[in-house]
Amino acid sequence: MKTLWFDPVGDSASDALPDVRPETMPIDVIDTYDQVVIGGGITGLTTALLLARAGQTVAVLEARHIGAAATGHTTGKLSLLQGSRLSSIASRQKKSAVRDYVEANREGQAWLRHYLERRGLKVDERAALTFASTASGAKTVEEEFAACRAHDLPVSHVDTPELPFDVKTAIRLEGQAQIDPMVVLRALADDLRAHGGHLYEGVRVQGLKHGSPNVLSTDAGDVRADAVVVATGQPIFDRGGYFARMHFSRSYAAAFTVDEQIPREMYLGADTPSVSLRTVTRPGYDGELLLVGGWGHEVGRTGSERQHVMDMLAWTEKHFPTARMVARWSAQDYTTIDQLPYVGPILPGVENVQVATGFAKWGLTNGVAAALAMTGRILGNEPPWSKTFRPFRTSEVTSLGALGSALSANGQVAAYMTAGYAGLLKPTKKHPAEGDGVVGHDGLTPRGVCTVNGETQSVAPLCTHLGGVLRWNDAEQTWDCPLHASRFDPEGNVLEGPATRNLASQKASHDG
Ligand SMILES: Cc1cc2nc3c(=O)[nH]c(=O)nc-3n(C[C@H](O)[C@H](O)[C@H](O)COP(=O)(O)OP(=O)(O)OC[C@H]3O[C@@H](n4cnc5c(N)ncnc54)[C@H](O)[C@@H]3O)c2cc1C
Repeated sequence: MKTLWFDPVGDSASDALPDVRPETMPIDVIDTYDQVVIGGGITGLTTALLLARAGQTVAVLEARHIGAAATGHTTGKLSLLQGSRLSSIASRQKKSAVRDYVEANREGQAWLRHYLERRGLKVDERAALTFASTASGAKTVEEEFAACRAHDLPVSHVDTPELPFDVKTAIRLEGQAQIDPMVVLRALADDLRAHGGHLYEGVRVQGLKHGSPNVLSTDAGDVRADAVVVATGQPIFDRGGYFARMHFSRSYAAAFTVDEQIPREMYLGADTPSVSLRTVTRPGYDGELLLVGGWGHEVGRTGSERQHVMDMLAWTEKHFPTARMVARWSAQDYTTIDQLPYVGPILPGVENVQVATGFAKWGLTNGVAAALAMTGRILGNEPPWSKTFRPFRTSEVTSLGALGSALSANGQVAAYMTAGYAGLLKPTKKHPAEGDGVVGHDGLTPRGVCTVNGETQSVAPLCTHLGGVLRWNDAEQTWDCPLHASRFDPEGNVLEGPATRNLASQKASHDG
């Protein structure tokens, strides 16, 4: 099933938006732009629009289509109360860094709300709540309460009578919002073009030759740019070792028709697994749908992704017995080892290539803030809070927590690398059952074989990023890398993550 947001809304506001049509890039023409932005999510499109508005020549290069990765698959909450995010940051960072995080998110949220309101697009104002049903979750909620209050976010303790289960404690922040992320992206893309910018979909960037100008190699030819913004979720270039400084988390979401009363506000649980709730209206459905999300895990590092989906559906059925699913999807996002996003020059001193990543599932505010910071740096009006998010910051090196997190992340990478290669020692199945995939060897050749929609296909099961052995994702029917979260479809085409090249497809000896 696909994300709810990819179906056009059909309400009057978004009907007014023209479809975003892909531009085709002439392979034999090398264009030079002032600015090339890689990635058509919230970060890339906001950055591109701000630069185009400032009179720069701008092109966005998007590997698939706008919203293809995280932004088109969010739960669409535009909130400053972000589950237990602030207390997580406060546990690792100085008070001034937490203050800068709040300020950046406040500005990101305000910019996006103002932008949508000026365009007459829907901003559905709701309160945000963080709740807990367990004792350890309740402790986290209290820590979040203290962190919010310490940074002027006026949260209050509340009862939650609209939730159909017991809650030990909950805090609430008024005046937040829920949005449709694809309405936002279509508006940004439309506006970008109106300001003379270009958006090329279906163009994958594969390499960067840094210089003046930079030369980007893509699968449609080379493109030159005085400056480059890498807004690809996880950065696609290995410079700076970002992949070794992040955690990669995938979670699930589904929308349901429900006859019971639907909780009206936006909820996020502090227990494990975390549960996210909001409402949404869609054409063809009376009243509001219930959107449920959560059940996350590190990408490629769970026994069965399908089990996470089943657990989410079982939870929903238990608490909303009449729930009937109308859409289901999943997505991944990245968290840095010291909890703060990385935004700024890709390497110290490399001013004309910037990156933005590490939004920890709160990129609708953080991605816009990153766009404000990066464009501010380019245009000479950098916000004061942005220095806190520089990708090479001393706080990361001096924080014991961050170092421990990096060691643990890379220790796990090594363990998954070893386990993956051990898995290749067994002979591969020739015909996995429908929906299944396996890795193994066939003679001397490593093979990943899967069966999807009745067709058995075989790929080289080694990630084109750093050679990790891929694992089959039985919920999405994809090949996922447990090392740094690259993902590929059954034919081996890159879906997301740091990989920029497809897997080699193999002619399997299926008839054996
Ligand atoms: C399940 C889930 C729920 C979430 N819910 C919320 C929420 O309620 N509120 C909130 O604030 N945040 C939420 N988030 C987080 C938010 O979705 C992300 O932080 C945000 O969308 C990141 O935006 P981005 O533009 O940086 O990256 P993306 O949206 O991932 O965009 C990156 C783009 O780059 C493109 N790309 C990648 N590689 C290349 C290449 N080589 N060449 C060209 N293009 C390339 C991709 O195709 C993609 O379109 C959620 C995340 C998840 C996983």
